[in-house]
Amino acid sequence: MMESRALPKIKEIRAYFMGGATAEKGSGGADYHDQQEKHWIDDKVCTPMSKYKEYEQSRQSFGINVLGTLVVEIEADNGVTGFAVSTAGEMGCFIVEKHLNRFIEGRCVSEIKLIHDQMMRSTMFYAGSGGLVMNTISCVDLALWDLFGKCAQLPVYKLLGGAVRDEIQFYATGSRPDLAKEMGFIGGKMVTHFGPHDGDHGVRETAAMVADMREKCGPDFWLMLDCWMSMDVNFATKVAHACAPYNLKWIEECLPPQQYDGYREIKRNAPAGMMVTTGEHHGTLESFQTLSETGVDIMQPDVGWCGGLTTLLEIAAIAKAKGQLVVPHGSSMYSHHAVITFTNTPFSEFLMTAPEADHTRAQFAPILLNEPVPVNGRIHKSVLDKPGFGVELNPECKLTRPYQH
Ligand SMILES: [Mg+2]
Repeated sequence: MMESRALPKIKEIRAYFMGGATAEKGSGGADYHDQQEKHWIDDKVCTPMSKYKEYEQSRQSFGINVLGTLVVEIEADNGVTGFAVSTAGEMGCFIVEKHLNRFIEGRCVSEIKLIHDQMMRSTMFYAGSGGLVMNTISCVDLALWDLFGKCAQLPVYKLLGGAVRDEIQFYATGSRPDLAKEMGFIGGKMVTHFGPHDGDHGVRETAAMVADMREKCGPDFWLMLDCWMSMDVNFATKVAHACAPYNLKWIEECLPPQQYDGYREIKRNAPAGMMVTTGEHHGTLESFQTLSETGVDIMQPDVGWCGGLTTLLEIAAIAKAKGQLVVPHGSSMYSHHAVITFTNTPFSEFLMTAPEADHTRAQFAPILLNEPVPVNGRIHKSVLDKPGFGVELNPECKLTRPYQH
């Protein structure tokens, strides 16, 4: 009988950060909101802070980029190293080096589910259901999958059971759906610039923006709105109906994450055929179970924030049982390796990080080497055929390790 191959044990976990409040503006990386001035991603995007005039113009003004990038590196005793990046910066480093390290070092590289369960349970008393701690756990989980793939010499998507389609089709999130169409994407999602504090004028302006893009993109190109938690039920309902004549495909993240009753109500109020979506700021399986029950059409977990790939797989299973779609928020190759194995993810998101959304650029630039970028709006599975997540850290990015254990 054939014995299974012995796998190495984990020798050390290390946490680094880049960018954030202490760095120069525009470091990019996993904290992709940290861009230079005049970038579409920071140009009067409507947010929960927009009702305060002094924070209306720029998300950086209220601190969207204070955290910076967290890099978690995990080294096995055979010298192979896995890593991942997420948004948790220096604070994430503390959690990894002073708390989570105890569940990781000494384990076999394949013991990901056990480590994940211990990370989730041991942080329950301070983690909450999304945010910094979940981002950090997600980053460790992704680094574990990367290490396991590199030790097994297999891409992560093959560890998960293999691809169910040959290529991933993308819609583009950015300010220029018309250019996204020319680049071969299947749709374009725009941020909103007006909220409840702008009253009916804001509803009209939002509908006018969609109408203008509909004119430019023709009748069938998908157009969507991303509201980044900035609305209330009434305003979202009005915007949805005002945009219905322009065939808006979905309205995304209208409300703060914990307003589940509100999401249920928006879904009930929305015009027939228009989808209601959310999830990027939700974390933990339990949150997504509750969210699923509101009846939203698409759940949009971020694999770098929701609890990691291990949690994303569970979320996808909940959605699958209900006939819901799971279309993860951005997250580049960490999403690609998962969604190519999901039957309920027929397309995926690509975030345009070019300042004017006029060309494709790696989402996490400049921190990774070999980060895949869609060509003609698609990524073929052969592009993912490298061990782990198939990317390396860019040695030119200066990382800081603030804590050690
Ligand atoms: Mg979004």
